[in-house]
Amino acid sequence: MMSEKSIYQKNDMVTVTIEDAGMDGEGIGKVDGYTLFIKDAVIGDQVEAKIMKAKKNYAYARLEKVLAPSPFRVQPLCDYARVCGGCQMQAMSYDEQLKFKERKIFHDLVRIGGFTEEEIEKVMEPIVGMDEPFYYRNKAQYPVGTDKDGNLVAGFYAGRTHSIIANTDCKLGITVNQQILEAVLSFMKENHISAYDEKLHKGLVRHVLIRCGFTTKEVMVCLVINGKSFPKERELVDCLLGLKLEDQGREWNITSICTSSNTKDTNVIMGDSFDVLFGKGHITDYIGDVAFQISPLSFYQVNPMQTKKLYELALEYANLSGDETVWDLYCGIGTISLFLAKKAGKVYGVEIIPQAIDNARENASINHIGNAEFFVGKAEEVLPEKYEKEQIRADVIVVDPPRKGCDEKCLNTMVKMKPERIVYVSCDPATLARDLKYLRENGYEVKRVRGVDQFPQTVHVETVALLTKKAR
Ligand code: SAH
Repeated sequence: MMSEKSIYQKNDMVTVTIEDAGMDGEGIGKVDGYTLFIKDAVIGDQVEAKIMKAKKNYAYARLEKVLAPSPFRVQPLCDYARVCGGCQMQAMSYDEQLKFKERKIFHDLVRIGGFTEEEIEKVMEPIVGMDEPFYYRNKAQYPVGTDKDGNLVAGFYAGRTHSIIANTDCKLGITVNQQILEAVLSFMKENHISAYDEKLHKGLVRHVLIRCGFTTKEVMVCLVINGKSFPKERELVDCLLGLKLEDQGREWNITSICTSSNTKDTNVIMGDSFDVLFGKGHITDYIGDVAFQISPLSFYQVNPMQTKKLYELALEYANLSGDETVWDLYCGIGTISLFLAKKAGKVYGVEIIPQAIDNARENASINHIGNAEFFVGKAEEVLPEKYEKEQIRADVIVVDPPRKGCDEKCLNTMVKMKPERIVYVSCDPATLARDLKYLRENGYEVKRVRGVDQFPQTVHVETVALLTKKAR
């Protein structure tokens, strides 16, 4: 095979102005038509960068020096933003992050969806951002380990490695996380309880999981352990319950303390089950007026404020009058289904993970919602079966698929069912664009599109689209 010749070689220095940001938030700039991908460079920066990996038409380069900072460059709130890599966009002003996300949706719809720019301009509404784009996560998972001096630490894995950098103050979570983590670390130190060592597969405490209900102020602490049980359960409970948790004047209460045994040599954080040391084994939180029980193992949206806005938007797009038959495909624990149920005649949820459907049914029951029914299975299999064999119809179909989007068989059945409206909730604008193209070629038109920023400081963006059946 011929080797790819490049005008640049490894270790060459280049000076470039950043014009765009890529999929992972990296800066993109061009020199003589040659494209450079530079992590940590912000749109508008003029930078000096060192080529790390050169291909024929593009190269990856490392940011060496910001020669002239972009007007959008800001001081990250977190000292570890660059090493951590969890937040790809903290060095960019929040307004500019939102614009970046809007542009991403726009361009994907044009490039992949085949829409004209005018068509998109007509239907696209301004992205829904946050007033306070930090401290929004209701779930934190910190790995615990030992640093090179033998101190117990909790923090994060340094980008793509397995060494833990100590930092208990992630700015995306609530500030009480830090209090809890420091208390757990001191407790471990005083009681000679070891941290897990990944390389040796030895030591007890692997991760600390903290989940909180933003509306109820309930907090769950779950220690993931490499063993069957925790040696000083009572003492740990007393220690944690003794904490007075406060953040920005709001009081939080630890109402659930658990351990989850994970003795496998794996990257998966949680074990398959959990034991309750104190409280109920779940906390409760609300989205709007629907209550959800969250266990250490449940999937639950991590940004409750924006989730509420997202679901309200989906509900608005669904435009329910009270007697519609609604399908919620890829329903997870039934969050959207239950949110819509009160305004619909009947809701059917479909989800591939059986435990999530168990949660969905429980959540329906605690909210006394009797018009929601849930099926376990693949959307692309359950939907055709229920439609073709049982003739269950649809007035509105809501989908919220994972990043890879909807299976074509699923889209095809949706079209055959001829719902008046389709509401597409997407976590990847590229697959959204692909699927909207299909729906548009098969009798539907896109009426409204709107981004919702569920993950400020990161490159991820959620989008909601409304399609209606074309008049024939
Ligand atoms: N709507 C939910 C969850 C969305 S995440 C919420 O807002 O909380 C997408 C969900 O789709 C996940 O729960 C995943 O398990 C599920 N899933 C993935 N592939 C699927 C398939 N082929 N059929 C049905 N569900 C699927």
